[in-house]
Amino acid sequence: MTAPFLPFTRPSIDEETIAEVANVLRSGWITSGPKVLAFEAALSDYCGGRPVRVFNSGTATLEVALRLAGVGSGDTVITTPLTWVATANVILEVGATPVFVDVDPVTRNIDPDKLEEAVTPQTKAIIPVDLAGLPVDRDRLYAVANKHGVRVIEDAAQSFGASWNDNRIGSTGDFVSFSFHANKNLTTAEGGALVLPPDIDPFLCERLRLQGMQRFTDGGMDVDVLGGKFNLTDIAATIGLGQMKHLEAFTARRRELARAYFAGIDPALKLELPVANFSNSNWHMFQVLLPAGVDRGKFIMAMKQRGIGVGVHYPALHLFTLYRAMGFKEGSFPKAERIGAATITLPLFPSMQDSDIDRVCSALAASLQEIA
Ligand SMILES: *Cc1c(COP(=O)(O)O)cnc(C)c1O
Repeated sequence: MTAPFLPFTRPSIDEETIAEVANVLRSGWITSGPKVLAFEAALSDYCGGRPVRVFNSGTATLEVALRLAGVGSGDTVITTPLTWVATANVILEVGATPVFVDVDPVTRNIDPDKLEEAVTPQTKAIIPVDLAGLPVDRDRLYAVANKHGVRVIEDAAQSFGASWNDNRIGSTGDFVSFSFHANKNLTTAEGGALVLPPDIDPFLCERLRLQGMQRFTDGGMDVDVLGGKFNLTDIAATIGLGQMKHLEAFTARRRELARAYFAGIDPALKLELPVANFSNSNWHMFQVLLPAGVDRGKFIMAMKQRGIGVGVHYPALHLFTLYRAMGFKEGSFPKAERIGAATITLPLFPSMQDSDIDRVCSALAASLQEIA
């Protein structure tokens, strides 16, 4: 009997959550309502009591955070070229200009050594990304941001459940943005959350989330600011509430599986492994870099033939057509380009079995040998 196909990720939704979603569907109130408020309260509790508002995506949270930070045309925003394209697209969306800083080849995150030299009088914000769930060095990041009076919007889409210096990501810092897309460590199918700093009015955040609308007790309404259509449904919030109960177990299991990869991957394969961090990282992804000269397309096919799904997260985004048109090209950010061209995401999700890790490790060896 052949083993079933192993995808690179799969959400874990328990039966109780499925039943709760059915209850919401029968309740007569399916969009933003009491479940959204309960989910926001649970997230705020998790983030040390800081104000949290939920959104229908992690892209919407970033865009609203930029607007709340006052970022617009004429401003520049510093970020990494090695991330999901949403991180940079939102900068364009608000009319600002992205300034990329190359990554540290070891952490694969924005290089803190190169951050300060990228700051100019036009710099309004920095969007660091915790790639694969490994947190950016918050001490060094905020040292630069605070020195230059630049706002920080932490793109923590991949690092919900991770920590920095014993503080949960989300419990400290300026703006912190989470995504609850189906592939993220905690999911609502689609969704996101924004943790707000103390100088930002949560009510303005709510207006930017929904058409700028405010309602009065006499039935009147007013719109004083242009808002989007970014509200989360109670259906989605119910999934999120069910997921919160498992967050710690999810993270613990991911760390166990990551450890098993370090023990199981044959060093002779010459794969470049991620940083072995078991205290801060939530192990959103386990990514290896293929040795130079290995054809990634052939490798992906060879793994697929062995029943293993792998992913690519991500090619360096400044080489996408939209960004090339802004003048970026090969050689602009060599470290991100090399990693983006060689990276492979191996299967890692909480319901994986230990034996699945063995299967992946064997398939890695066999696939690399086959295509050599
Ligand atoms: C997933 C993700 C986003 C966007 O989140 P969505 O919920 O898909 O809109 C932004 N940044 C990073 C780094 C992500 O991984």
